[in-house]
Amino acid sequence: MPSVERVRHESRFRLLTVAATEELTPALRRVLLEGDLEDFRSAGADDHVKLFFPARGGRLPVPASGGPSGLQWPEDEPRPAARDYTPRRFDSASLVVDFVLHGDGPAASWARSAEAGDVIGQGGPRGSRVVSDDFDWYLLAGDETAIPAIARRLEELPASATAIVIVEIASPRERFGFETDAELDLTWLERADAPAGSTRLLDDAIASLSLDGDGYAWVAAEADTARRLRSHLRTERGLPQEFSRVTGYWKLGAADWHDPPE
Ligand SMILES: Cc1cc2nc3c(=O)[nH]c(=O)nc-3n(C[C@H](O)[C@H](O)[C@H](O)COP(=O)(O)OP(=O)(O)OC[C@H]3O[C@@H](n4cnc5c(N)ncnc54)[C@H](O)[C@@H]3O)c2cc1C
Repeated sequence: MPSVERVRHESRFRLLTVAATEELTPALRRVLLEGDLEDFRSAGADDHVKLFFPARGGRLPVPASGGPSGLQWPEDEPRPAARDYTPRRFDSASLVVDFVLHGDGPAASWARSAEAGDVIGQGGPRGSRVVSDDFDWYLLAGDETAIPAIARRLEELPASATAIVIVEIASPRERFGFETDAELDLTWLERADAPAGSTRLLDDAIASLSLDGDGYAWVAAEADTARRLRSHLRTERGLPQEFSRVTGYWKLGAADWHDPPE
């Protein structure tokens, strides 16, 4: 029976050290972080961790302590800049995060110059959404910030699943080698010189799909694009809210964007 289950996790602050980096594409840089991740839990492919960055020129982010209402910082210290990222892979001693090198911002700037020995703060995930493997189809779509969650989901899906994947990138050089046992229908949309978040490529590609049966739609993109796609999938396609998760992962012209909770 297709289902979505929510799981809560205890929040804890960790300091993690960069062990290695890798250029996956010209726009995507992988950072392998190491530390004590023995009690790290992430049950959903689209979970997110909070990453806390050192102040410019600093080496360590200000450490937090865990509390019943989440992480708490010393009152006399400025809170470090924090952004949300997908736990792409993890085990008890390491966490892999794939960063889009989009331009300026505490996260993208840190990731561009990250090197072995650098230290970063990490908290969460505070919860996971576990989507069952028996939907008729999975629509996984978004821009380059969605690639880590889509790649993780594709690696988790069984051979019996059908995945329709649509990703907007700047150029063919940014195509990423997804791996999956599922039946994969993959479309790359290339925006060429148009700025990220400014096109309707995702809208047009999703509007042209024929989607029959009980499916699960997951989209992550620029916030205005996500708002339009949410409305299309829910109103025009009639997908129930529980089986369609559409999130603005960033917003054109706004730093540290958070989509309002649904
Ligand atoms: C649940 C969740 C999971 C996410 N997972 C990932 C992930 O695994 N990998 C990843 O790279 N991102 C991911 N993101 C997106 C990431 O958190 C944002 O892109 C974030 O704004 C980056 O922070 P920053 O400090 O670099 O830029 P900010 O300081 O937040 O923004 C600075 C400027 O850059 C612009 N900007 C921000 N992001 C982008 C972008 N992608 N393209 C173009 N312009 C941009 C803003 O509009 C702003 O003008 C995720 C977001 C969410 C909510």
